Amino acid sequence: MKLYNPFQRKSIAQRDEKHIWHPLTQHKTNGPLLAIKKAKGAILTDENGKEYIDGIASWYTSMYGHCHPVVINKVKQQMKTLDQIVFSGFTHEPAVILAEKLLKILPQNQDKLFFNDNGSTATEVGIKMALQFHHNQGEKRKVMLALKEGFHGDTFGAMSVSGLSVYNGAFEDHFIEVIRLPKPLGHNNHEVIQQLQQLIKNHSIAGFIYEPLVQGAAAMKTYSKDGLQKIIELCKKNKIICIADEVMTGFGKTGKNFASDYLTIQPDIICLSKALSAGMVPMGITSCTAEIYDAFYADEIEKGLFHGHTYTGNPLACAAAIAGIELLTSNEIQKNIQAIVMAHQQFANEMRNHPKVSEVRQIGVILAIDLSVQMQRYGDLRDRLFNYFMKNGVFLRPLGNIIYILPPYVIKMEELEKIYAVIKSCMEEVVP
Ligand SMILES: *Cc1c(COP(=O)(O)O)cnc(C)c1O
Repeated sequence: MKLYNPFQRKSIAQRDEKHIWHPLTQHKTNGPLLAIKKAKGAILTDENGKEYIDGIASWYTSMYGHCHPVVINKVKQQMKTLDQIVFSGFTHEPAVILAEKLLKILPQNQDKLFFNDNGSTATEVGIKMALQFHHNQGEKRKVMLALKEGFHGDTFGAMSVSGLSVYNGAFEDHFIEVIRLPKPLGHNNHEVIQQLQQLIKNHSIAGFIYEPLVQGAAAMKTYSKDGLQKIIELCKKNKIICIADEVMTGFGKTGKNFASDYLTIQPDIICLSKALSAGMVPMGITSCTAEIYDAFYADEIEKGLFHGHTYTGNPLACAAAIAGIELLTSNEIQKNIQAIVMAHQQFANEMRNHPKVSEVRQIGVILAIDLSVQMQRYGDLRDRLFNYFMKNGVFLRPLGNIIYILPPYVIKMEELEKIYAVIKSCMEEVVP
């Protein structure tokens, strides 16, 4: 006789609803959630067996595809040897190998790595480094500079320097001091620089944090490379610590290993996460120059950086990240990136002429399409687009009236073509 099992008749999604509070979700208005059972390469499979192409690499983490055998093997081997160890007072080889490999591909001025768990704490540490850098030298600099509409994470420092929105508005009174500068878009570069010169005169700015070349959460908004270059130059002249938040852009997405590689001037600090650990386990890293590190290197204990998380430098995460770098630098992945860039270019040109499209932006494997929809006809368009994509087996998360693709590098050409085809047909069937 079989025992009665109350779970047997309920789906995973129904059982979830009873106990779980999800991130970035208003549960009252949100529909039921979808349970994903497995993932392989660019394909997600839900609990009913339906497949979806992962068009955004699960928030740009799984860039080498889900459950990649190289990553699995590296982590599996590591699991059997050393799972976790306190990273204060101890070290281990996976962390050292990762540091050696990562510093080889990071901009050349980067010298030291600080480990943590996620993108928000990677930027949080970057902000703390900038503030304490000045503090340790006896200088009072309290203000952070950021770009409007940026996104740097959900902890307090990271929220403070992000653009104001429904996500962080409730906490505004508790923010650290921040000044938000308009993005340089080419035509306004001169005004932005003039405004910055004024700000530098009137405030004691400690650091400048920015998403280099493209703001991810703002819907893949690209901006002027030359403008950014000039801002960084001016900041550096005034000893304002420049923090490149490459949590989204890092590891090949812009067509170079890091978006900062497009500039001739290098940042003082770089924040990494998302694709860093190949989508396998959470990890963040904040890298910095020797100059930053040296400002903390002293006989006085309080000049050290007293920040730490329990799982800092977790050996399994290091193993996954080592595998990730090996994949990124392989000929195969580099060729895949070029193939996606070329396919995107062709599709972008096609979409630019579409009557329902107002703008198309592309950098590397990132492609964003702005729909020209009048506000009064917008309604629940975002949700209808999302549902249409999912119904047709493609996972994309439109941001308002902006559709973007950021596929894993291992996506097959026919899978990429299917994403394009579904976007084209949504123009006829969903977009007013
Ligand atoms: C996702 C993201 C973060 C935050 O990372 P989490 O791991 O979600 O905390 C910070 N900065 C940028 C640019 C991001 O895209």
